[in-house]
Amino acid sequence: MEKVVALTKRRGFIYPSSEIYGGLSGFYDFGPYGVALKRAIRDLWWRHMVELRGDVVGLESTQIMPSEVWAASGHLTNFVDPLRQCLGECKKRWRADHVKGDKCPECGGPLDEARMFNLMFKTHVGPVEDSSSEVYLRPETAQGMFVDFKNVLNSSRVRVPFGIAQQGKAFRNEITPGNFVFRVREFELMEMEFFVKPDSDDEWFDYWRKERMRWYTDVLGIKPDRLRMYDHPKVGLSHYSKQTTDIEYEFPFGWGELEGVADRTDFDLRVHQEKSKVDLSYLDPETNERYLPWVIEPAVSVERIFITLLLDAYDEDVVNNEPRVVLHLHPNVAPVQVAVVPLSKKPELTGPAQEVMKSLRGEFRVEYDQTGGNIGRRYRRQDEIGTPFCVTIDFETLNDEAVTIRQRDSTLQERVPIAEVHAQLALRVSEHG
Ligand code: ATP
Repeated sequence: MEKVVALTKRRGFIYPSSEIYGGLSGFYDFGPYGVALKRAIRDLWWRHMVELRGDVVGLESTQIMPSEVWAASGHLTNFVDPLRQCLGECKKRWRADHVKGDKCPECGGPLDEARMFNLMFKTHVGPVEDSSSEVYLRPETAQGMFVDFKNVLNSSRVRVPFGIAQQGKAFRNEITPGNFVFRVREFELMEMEFFVKPDSDDEWFDYWRKERMRWYTDVLGIKPDRLRMYDHPKVGLSHYSKQTTDIEYEFPFGWGELEGVADRTDFDLRVHQEKSKVDLSYLDPETNERYLPWVIEPAVSVERIFITLLLDAYDEDVVNNEPRVVLHLHPNVAPVQVAVVPLSKKPELTGPAQEVMKSLRGEFRVEYDQTGGNIGRRYRRQDEIGTPFCVTIDFETLNDEAVTIRQRDSTLQERVPIAEVHAQLALRVSEHG
């Protein structure tokens, strides 16, 4: 983990938020390569959850929602974690379910009794700060889908079974943020609420568990032996859930939740219908049956996928008797998919190199590296950020109208005519999913 953290800082993936003022615990900024990786994750999720399917539509609801929403959904009372504070020297606060026994894991001092702590950030709308103006930053995007359920039904052609997908910021005042961006206080959730006929929830629950696992292995290229499904025992499930499966990854600190797939029953639609007094039922146009659909929800944050991908891809090996750090990132997610590298800064090489770069930009995430200097060192820079292909323009190019494509993982180099570079790369980037 330390090595990955150091790499992300060194190469501009992630910085602590407001670092020049000492940072803010549980908040991170994403630098140039980090943004590219995040966007790739988000886009692939949207592509596979919405665009490549005919039965899921998108939604963007607000990040601030009134307290009525959170009262109805149960978050005001149930979105709590048990908190214990050290009464000894360090006074640190801990999540009670993350510590064993009654001693502080930091200083060994005694811990106080557990009390419940609500994880939602509260603020006020308008100039008066009283209870009537209280609102909350959403801790999940899901409630937007339930509150807008009727709007989507009435304004689009969806028919059960169908889904509503949303990506957007969520905020949780975590007691103990940590493990880098595994647990942060501001993050980007990607959630899909899939509405089904009441009796078909088991079937769809199983479908989505498998579908989501397949996405991690086949589309993101995560090693299957580091993934597993963990079915939550019925006791201790979230207040809205009939069954929950976590897709877990083997992190350096042990198995941990990457994504949760939950059978939310009709809990949310039911409580919002009760509290808002608006009919949220669905009329089946074929059978004329009226019912509240049940909901299967896959939910994951971009940040958690981000750290999983980096940990999964990180490797150290030896190439030409020199050690190298390499990220074996899938070409689908690599922040830079193709680096175009003229062997020297001389204009007779940079001219054709820029032509090649222009022909690739737009279709691939391309970086142009004209720094000159040792080519091996430039390859290693690209290896470290996970660039799967480097296209090198050398003096031979001026004679044979060809370039070298160098592969990150095998370090193999192949001579390819310039006219074929685009097609060859398209094949290699897309052949991986
Ligand atoms: P925990 O019990 O670990 O606090 P949870 O089970 O309440 O978490 P969910 O509500 O199931 O978490 O969250 C859904 C998904 O959102 C998680 O699988 C994870 O990908 C992501 N997630 C949740 N909390 C955080 C966080 N603090 N930072 C980053 N990602 C998070």
